[in-house]
Amino acid sequence: MPNVDVIIFGGGIAGLWTMHEASRRGYRCLLLEAFVLGSGQTVASQGIIHGGLKYTLQGMMTGSARRIREMPSIWRKSLAGEQLPDLSQTEIRSNNCYLWRTESLSSRLGMFGAKMGLQVVPKNLTPDEVPDLLSGCPGSIGQMDEQVISPYSLIQNLADAFPDQIFQYDPKSLKFIHDPSGKLTAVQIQAPDGTPTTIQTAAVLLTAGSGNETLLKLAHPDSTVQQQNRMQKRPLHMALVRGTLPPFNGHCVDGAKTRVTITSDIDCQGRTVWQIGGQVAETGVTMNRRELIEHAVRELSASIP
Ligand SMILES: Cc1cc2nc3c(=O)[nH]c(=O)nc-3n(C[C@H](O)[C@H](O)[C@H](O)COP(=O)(O)OP(=O)(O)OC[C@H]3O[C@@H](n4cnc5c(N)ncnc54)[C@H](O)[C@@H]3O)c2cc1C
Repeated sequence: MPNVDVIIFGGGIAGLWTMHEASRRGYRCLLLEAFVLGSGQTVASQGIIHGGLKYTLQGMMTGSARRIREMPSIWRKSLAGEQLPDLSQTEIRSNNCYLWRTESLSSRLGMFGAKMGLQVVPKNLTPDEVPDLLSGCPGSIGQMDEQVISPYSLIQNLADAFPDQIFQYDPKSLKFIHDPSGKLTAVQIQAPDGTPTTIQTAAVLLTAGSGNETLLKLAHPDSTVQQQNRMQKRPLHMALVRGTLPPFNGHCVDGAKTRVTITSDIDCQGRTVWQIGGQVAETGVTMNRRELIEHAVRELSASIP
C-alpha cells in the first residue's frame, strides 16, 4: 500500500465527508472501516438536514449552533450537484419538514423561539396547505427548509467516489506505530491474506463514532491524552410505527424541546414506516422495548390530535 497524508478511521458521514473535503484539497487519503460503512449512527439516523431547531429552542446560540443554521443551504447545493461533494445520487425523501405545536403554553413559547432563532424562518402554511394529519393541531403550522435524505444512499454516494481508497480491516489486527519522539507515523493492519501491512501516514483522523474511544486508547495508551480527548456519547432509541401511514416528516415543538420528530421511510414490503425521534428517542434510551413503544404511542397521541 502507498504512503498517504491522512488515514481516516471510520466511514460514517464524518469520515466520508472529511475524505471528500481532504481529497479536494489535495491530500492523499485512505479510509479504514472496521465493520460496514455508516453502520454506527449514520445509517440508523432519521436523515434530517438540521437547521439547528433543537439548539434554537434551548437558547444555545453557540458557535456550532450558528454553523448548523447554515447546513440546510450547504446540503441543498450538494444534493443538487451544484457544489462538492456532489450528492446528486443521494435519495431525497422530502424537501422540507413540518413544524407544529401542542396546546400548552410552553409549546407556544417554543414555537415563538423557533421562529426567532432559525436562519430561515419557517413558512406559515395557509389552511389549504396544512396536511390532513395536522388539521386538528392548534396555532399556525410551519414548514421548514430542512431536507430529509436516505442515509443509506448518502453513504453509497459518498463512498462511490473512492473505490480504491476505502478498505475494510480487522480491528483486532491494528497497531499504531510511533517514532522515537512519540509521534504517530504509521499504521499496521493485516492484509486479506494475513500478512501485516504497514502504511506510513502524516496524520490519523478518528471518525469512528463510538469506536473512537478504543482507537484513542490504542493510539495513545497514555491516560492523560485520553482524558483530554473525552468523547461525547449520545445514544438514541427511536420507535418505529408501521401501518397505513401517509409519508410525513416534521417536528412537534413543546417548550424547549422537539417532543416528537417524525420521519418516513419505506420498508422492504413497500409500506411506509414512521421513525419516531426527538425527545422520544432521547428518553427511550432509559426504557426497554415495551416501555418505549407505549411511551411513543402516548406521545404521538398527544402530539397529533
Ligand atoms: C436514531 C438516530 C437518529 C438520528 N437522526 C439524525 C438526523 O435526522 N439528522 C442528523 O443530522 N443527525 C441525526 N443523528 C445523529 C447522526 O446520525 C450522527 O451524528 C452521525 O451519523 C455521526 O456520524 P459519524 O460518522 O460520526 O459516526 P457513525 O455513523 O457512528 O460512523 C462511525 C463509523 O466508524 C466505524 N467504526 C467503528 N469502530 C471502528 C474502528 N475501530 N475502526 C474503523 N472504523 C470503525 C463504524 O462501523 C461506522 O462506519 C441521529 C442519530 C441517531 C442514533
